[in-house]
Amino acid sequence: MSDAEARPTNFIRQIIDKDLAEGKHTAIVTRFPPEPNGYLHIGHAKSICLNFGIAQDYQGECNLRFDDTNPEKENVEYVASIKRDVQWLGFDWAGEVRYSSNYFDKLYGYAIELIKKGLAYVEELTPDEIREYRGTLTAPGKHSPYRERTVEENLALFEKMRAGEFEEGKACLRAKIDMASPFMVMRDPVLYRVRFVHHHQTGDKWCIYPMYDFTHCISDALEGITHSLCTLEFQDNRRLYDWVLENITIDCTPHQYEFSRLNLECTVMSKRKLNQLVEEQLVNGWDDPRMLTISGLRRRGYTPASIREFCQRIGVTKQDNTIEMSSLESCVRDDLNDNAPRAMAVLDPIKLVIENKTDGVEWLDAPNHPNQPEMGTRQVPFSSEIWIEREDFRESANKKYKRLVLDKEVRLRNAYVVKAERCDKDEDGNITTVYCRYDPDTLGKDPADGRKVKGVIHWVSADKALPAEFRLYDRLFTVPNPASADNFAETINPESLQVQQGYVEPSMQNAPAEKGYQFERTGYFCVDNKDSQPDALVFNRTVSLRDTWAKIEGK
Ligand code: ATP
Ligand code: MG
Repeated sequence: MSDAEARPTNFIRQIIDKDLAEGKHTAIVTRFPPEPNGYLHIGHAKSICLNFGIAQDYQGECNLRFDDTNPEKENVEYVASIKRDVQWLGFDWAGEVRYSSNYFDKLYGYAIELIKKGLAYVEELTPDEIREYRGTLTAPGKHSPYRERTVEENLALFEKMRAGEFEEGKACLRAKIDMASPFMVMRDPVLYRVRFVHHHQTGDKWCIYPMYDFTHCISDALEGITHSLCTLEFQDNRRLYDWVLENITIDCTPHQYEFSRLNLECTVMSKRKLNQLVEEQLVNGWDDPRMLTISGLRRRGYTPASIREFCQRIGVTKQDNTIEMSSLESCVRDDLNDNAPRAMAVLDPIKLVIENKTDGVEWLDAPNHPNQPEMGTRQVPFSSEIWIEREDFRESANKKYKRLVLDKEVRLRNAYVVKAERCDKDEDGNITTVYCRYDPDTLGKDPADGRKVKGVIHWVSADKALPAEFRLYDRLFTVPNPASADNFAETINPESLQVQQGYVEPSMQNAPAEKGYQFERTGYFCVDNKDSQPDALVFNRTVSLRDTWAKIEGK
């Protein structure tokens, strides 16, 4: 990554700087620990940029570790997508991909150690009773009748659990901590439960699975993680994290630090809700360009650099807040404004016939970028029939309308000045064809007699342009916080996808999927990475040229 992306500091980097200065650590090791139960979203990108970014900047390492302790909700499709998304964002993990399940044998050993120390016991209350005994935030819990079993008894029962002799829900292993703790997580948390399910990594080897809190801290320690960064909802769990590591024999003591989650307006971020959108076919898959998944953003035309830039701009703090969608959009707009080649496309075409153009097709030079001559030029065909945008022509209009009007002149982008003379309409009064004359003396220069031509419109040649489908996206939800609605699915914006059939200039024939182009005057687009075919091109609008959100929000 370039120097331009040098990251600003934040409270976690300050802690790391201090730890290094004090010699507490000599090398920094972080990890990104997704649960493979869905595709990654923009919230994960924040965590990825933080963890991998720190490793890069401190010449440390960042592990990718799948937190796979819930086999029933997980699957290998998610594992593959997560790896792909992390790499696409521009990061790479240290060594092999890791799985919490790599440590199941060791975790089992540590559970035995806790039992032997009298710090864990096999519980036989039902899940409902466990909940009831746990107490509430205002009332202490009470001790389970099984809490005082002997070490031998617990060892034998835990072995029975492992051997599959307990049904699900009939026994679990609990840490023996403090049923009166003000922190609910410390009220004898469950460490292991019985689950007769196949695991995508360990197959049918286990019928007991360790809980997240027990697994996470030990996995961190086994991997030599120095700074374990997670979101604020794990703040209380830090007590359990530290308790486990203090009470087992392990020589590394990672520290957990919490930062606030990313929340974005007009979207949902939890994988459970994203999964519901996919399952109920409210969107077209995890990579639907309206989804704020990494794969959806990628398909929409977001660049990895624009997502990294966004994560940098929002920063890392402990304050909970909600970011406006326009901040994300402005990152990709800034990137594409600088880097996307220009091209012309007409999304809602009407025909313009140039009656005095009789010399066939003429190939005109057009710059690929207005301020970056090094991006070169391309040739666009100009002929007697071209397509222009329906909204770029009116029979009559006031002076504010700087496009084509009957008896008035306008410049065709990268080409000549034309003057509209008359038009045809269909039975419903819709304009079908406009007839004009062009001034052959205006290529790349103003009319010689000093006539002023203010407006410029885009166009494509009717016989050489390629038909194309354009998918225009709007926000997926109509309310700023859909997650708080009773039924968030009901707040979906029915107009979040609009499809138009039009034309692109022929140079777009071989445009690679996902690469951003600015279609002049209409927005930034890319070829859809799934549905586009050489003879049936499909383009996604990544973002409009200007911020239309401010208007919508009435700001
Ligand atoms: P979700 O609620 O979407 O399922 P999660 O936290 O359960 O999210 P994990 O797969 O467990 O998802 O997350 C992997 C890492 O990404 C965790 O360290 C988590 O804290 C972080 N993360 C998840 N969502 C966000 C977010 N919105 N903002 C910042 N970090 C996030
Ligand atoms: Mg989770």
